[in-house]
Amino acid sequence: MELTLNNGVTMPALGLGVFQSAPEQTTAAVQSALAAGYRHIDTAAAYGNEREVGEGIRTSGLDRAGVFIETKVWVSDYGFDETLHAWDKAVGKLGVDYLDLLILHQPAPDRFEKTIAAYKALETLLADGRVRAIGVSNFMPHHLKRLLAETDIIPAVNQIELHPYFTQPDVETIDGEHGILNQAWSPIGGITFYPGWGGQDRRNVMQDPAIAAVAHSHRKTPAQVMLRWHLQQGRSAIPKSTNPERIAENFDVFDFELSAAELAAIDALDTGERNGPDPDEARPERFAMVIPEA
Ligand code: NDP
Repeated sequence: MELTLNNGVTMPALGLGVFQSAPEQTTAAVQSALAAGYRHIDTAAAYGNEREVGEGIRTSGLDRAGVFIETKVWVSDYGFDETLHAWDKAVGKLGVDYLDLLILHQPAPDRFEKTIAAYKALETLLADGRVRAIGVSNFMPHHLKRLLAETDIIPAVNQIELHPYFTQPDVETIDGEHGILNQAWSPIGGITFYPGWGGQDRRNVMQDPAIAAVAHSHRKTPAQVMLRWHLQQGRSAIPKSTNPERIAENFDVFDFELSAAELAAIDALDTGERNGPDPDEARPERFAMVIPEA
């Protein structure tokens, strides 16, 4: 299933995410995904595995052009020249000569002028044909409004935390008004259950009884139901797994259809509470993370 971005470029709606995929597991995960039919991989400079993503693609037997490669610029590389150079680092590690989609990983709320300069570098990379589409991630409505006012090219994509427990309808509305595609991170709710984040009282969306009931009636798994819910609502989703069976399971979502009532029942699970980092929190320590050269 392909989605058409606001500049006419097409992108497979479902991609493989590789956040927290250890470098030594990433090549095999990408190979499994491409063998299962995925044609879109979402990585990031900050994940430390762009090299292994490139290796997985190169060894898959597929043409470079047959795989949609998305990566992200980390905040410590924001600024016009810095972000141009971030492209060099990314393509060097991935072993490619262009990117399909390059996005800013998150706004830097305390240094927004650097965020704007970084985005202007993305515009230059786009004009030069070094990327096919550009976008942002974790941009809230007020970040988008400021970006749109100060730059020329509307982002193609906004990648945000989006799963049944946190749907961010305000962001989806403004994205929709500007033709920006919503892409769900933690689409099957990883941030609601993987270790290392959140308090003890967090609820695991994978164990939600309403989702289990829908899954049972379609003989599908909760992960498959959540992915179908994204796709039927026009979103891109990038579930992460390093397990070959779960990678295949997450792509096996094109043979069933959720009813309007089922979609609405899942929509109704929204708690309005973010599980991941607040994009308005400055967190200056992020700037200490240096992205290595290729
Ligand atoms: P996901 O919602 O994709 O969930 C991943 C977790 O679910 C992992 O623990 C995985 O474990 C497990 N899992 C995968 N498939 C299944 C399944 N079928 N059944 C049960 N468990 C399953 O969370 P992520 O946070 O990883 O989000 C996906 C991607 O989004 C990331 O990999 C990254 O590319 C992107 N992302 C972007 C962010 C941003 O700030 N822009 C922030 C966070 C993520 P296992 O590997 O063992 O299968």
